[in-house]
This record gives sequence, C-alpha cells and structure tokens, in this order.
Amino acid sequence: MERQQYFPTIGLEIHAELKTQTKMFCDSLNNPDETRPNVNVCPVCLAHPGTLPVINKAAVRHVLRMGQAIDGVLADYSEFDRKSYFYPDIPKGYQISQYQYPLVAGGSLAGVAVTRVHLEEDTARSIHADGASLVDFNRAGIPLMELVTEPAIHDAETAGRFARELQLLLRTLEAGDANLEKGEMRIEANISVSPDEGVLGTKVEVKNLNSFRSVERAIAFEIDRQSTALRSGNLVVQETRGWDETRQCTFSQRLKEGSADYRYFPEPDLPKFVLSEQRDLLTSALPELPWNRRMRYAQSFALKDETIEYLVNAPERSILFDAVAGELGNDKKLVSLAANYLVGDLAGIQARQENGESISVDPTAFAQLIRLIASGELSSRGGKDTLELLVAQGGDPELLAREHGLLQIHDSAALAQTVAAVLAAEPKAVEEYRSGKQAALQYLVGAAMRASRGAGNPNRIQELLLEAIK
Ligand SMILES: [Zn+2]
Repeated sequence: MERQQYFPTIGLEIHAELKTQTKMFCDSLNNPDETRPNVNVCPVCLAHPGTLPVINKAAVRHVLRMGQAIDGVLADYSEFDRKSYFYPDIPKGYQISQYQYPLVAGGSLAGVAVTRVHLEEDTARSIHADGASLVDFNRAGIPLMELVTEPAIHDAETAGRFARELQLLLRTLEAGDANLEKGEMRIEANISVSPDEGVLGTKVEVKNLNSFRSVERAIAFEIDRQSTALRSGNLVVQETRGWDETRQCTFSQRLKEGSADYRYFPEPDLPKFVLSEQRDLLTSALPELPWNRRMRYAQSFALKDETIEYLVNAPERSILFDAVAGELGNDKKLVSLAANYLVGDLAGIQARQENGESISVDPTAFAQLIRLIASGELSSRGGKDTLELLVAQGGDPELLAREHGLLQIHDSAALAQTVAAVLAAEPKAVEEYRSGKQAALQYLVGAAMRASRGAGNPNRIQELLLEAIK
C-alpha cells in the first residue's frame, strides 16, 4: 500500500521585547538585566486603582520601523485593546494589546508573508521554587512586539530561517536584543498537516521554543507526530503543546482557548492613533537592511556566501567590515583579504575568549595590517601573530610587528648573512642540490626561514640561496 503523503503548514507568532528607556505605559525603567526582583515598578505597572497608562512613543516607533523594513502597510488608524484573562503575572486582570487595528498589516520577511505586527505589554515573571510561587513585576509592562506570519511556511528550515532573520532585523533596527535564551524573543509555532495540499488541517500550537534549533526540531517532530496519527486513523487534537528540550519531543499542555474567551474591547484609557497626526514617529531613515547588505557585499566585493553570512549576521561585524573596507578605499582585492582575516583569524580569537566578551579592533589599524600582508611585508603567519597583538594591546600594526620581529626581512644584507650561515651548516643538502635533487633546495629555504624566525621572505631567500650556491 502506498504511504499517505501529508502536507505541513506552519505559521509563526513571535514576541520580542523592545529596547526602550522606560516601559510601555509608565516611566518605570525597562531594564532586562535587572536581577533584583520588583525594583522597576510603579503604581501604573502594578495596576493600582486610579492609575492611567501613557503610550511610550519610542516603542510605537520601533514597531512602525519594523513595518517599514518588511514592506508592511502602516496603519492610518490604530488603537489598543484590552485582552482579559486571569493569571497572577497580569496584575490588571487584562493585558493591553492590539486586536482589530494593529500598527502594521502585511509585509514579508525571508520570503514569508507577514500578517500583522502589533504592540502590547509584557507580563510579569512567575517564579516557582521551594513550594512557593513568587511574582517579579520588573517585566510587567515592558513593550512587546508581536509579529504573526501567514500560515505560509511548509518546512522546519524555512521557519528557522525566518526567526533568525527577524532577530537580525530587530538588532539591525536597534529595536531589541532579541536573545532567545533570555526570553527577549519568544517563538510559537502553529503546525498542521493535511492530506490535501492547500487545505489546512487541525492546528497545534507549540510553545517554549528557546532556541532556533528547538524551533526547527519541534516543527519536524510535530509534522511527524501528526502525520503518523492521521495515518493510523487517529485525529489531531487542537491544543497547545510544549517542547521538551531534554527528551526532544512535544507534550500536551492544554486545550486551546478561542480568541473570544479574551473578550477584547478598545482600551478606554488610551487615545486612538491617527498616524497622519504622528509624523514625528517616522522621521529618521532606516539603516541598511540585512538583505541589501548581503547584495552589496556580493556585488562590490564578490565575497563568498558563507563570508557574507558571517559578516551580516551580527551588525557589529558588518559595521567593522564596512569601516575597514572604507579604510582600504574599497579595493576589491584588499577588502576580500580583509574579509578572510575577519572571518577566519579574528573570529578564531573571538572564539578563544574565555569570558565570551566581545573583542574589538580599530578599523584603521586592521586596514594597515591588511596592507602589510598584501605588500608581503608580513607573511601570513606574521599577519596572524600581529593580529593577536593588535587585539590584545592595540596600537600600530607595523610597530607591533617590528617590535616582535615579525616583519619579513627584505634587507638583503641581513638575509644574505642568514643564508650563508645555513649553507655552512648544511653542506650535505647543498651537495644533494648540486647533484640535481630539487627537494634539497626547499629544505634549505625552510632552514633559512627558521633561522630568520619566519621573518625572511621565502622568494627572496630562494634567490639568495641560488646565487650563493652558483
Ligand atoms: Zn511602572
């Protein structure tokens, strides 16, 4: 019997905490690094009676810029709504969110259509420990962006790629740090399978996806689980499932509530938005977006795809690369050499940092180093060593290389002395070369390189050796 084929459909709902000075509706600090509980709180975010929320424009601006970046439609009219539900981490008994009139509708990212992007407030954090439940309200009221995609994804890899690209975009726009492990970006996947392509099956929502890998694995797991259930004549139940990282599987959490349960209605304490009257929110231009940057690197410098990804995937790396390229006059050959040292050696030094702290290097000095390597004054070995010194102590790469005897010796007199000493010490090899053994010459070049501690230019050494042997 032929195995029944099932078509998966996936939609993502991604929440991201936005980077602002203060919270969404009050002036308590928005500091995700605060470790003391209940420090960044006030009567508004603790929902004391009689307090009123005030909209944080910086948060609105982040969402609108996100909308511009993904080519979405920015709303002419927008409003906030109350989403009512009871939970200890939500002091008001409702969350201020957006329902009918989100700030952004449509758009696309990484080839996936986006339904909407809206703004809401984060909940407090519940901590369950030692038989007690505690609530930390530092997070309550932090501005939270929610982006919902169309059910337009059909495999786990595309979902992972979308989420990674959104993280990069948030960082590029400086809208958020979006660290998954810190809960600054939270991904939920709606997954269904169907025997008919284009028809949606019963959807299951998976939460607790704390890394891009778990997003991909949980989706692959669900596609398999649901297809297997249907193949053996069972039904897929509409429910919310969690991802068990240890066992690498999803597990049932609860049956899904419908949206009607939240009793959405317009927030009476906040003004409506007529965006045409809020032009100040949209004044500054967007930075170069990741996809444009990839195209520019490919066209201007003909870099390899992996090199481009490495540089583009962290804004601080592309900023450094662009600065170095500028210092090198955007010379294709020099810039591509610089890219190799950034992707290879500098990344290697970064990876060896014990504290994981991010290393920095002055772009002007880095460009000078690349010029020294390109001109042959530094060998590739000398270049690597000089880069280590540059990262560790800064300064002028030529001076550093000179101080540490890393510059290639062009000085013929000094090299000639080294060569003469090698010839005197290796009479046997000289004899072998004279009797026609080419390998002996390479041996002598190597010996002279070692004698000059790697600073001798190998081509020049070979020339001098040949002259002396004749
Ligand atoms: Zn507050």
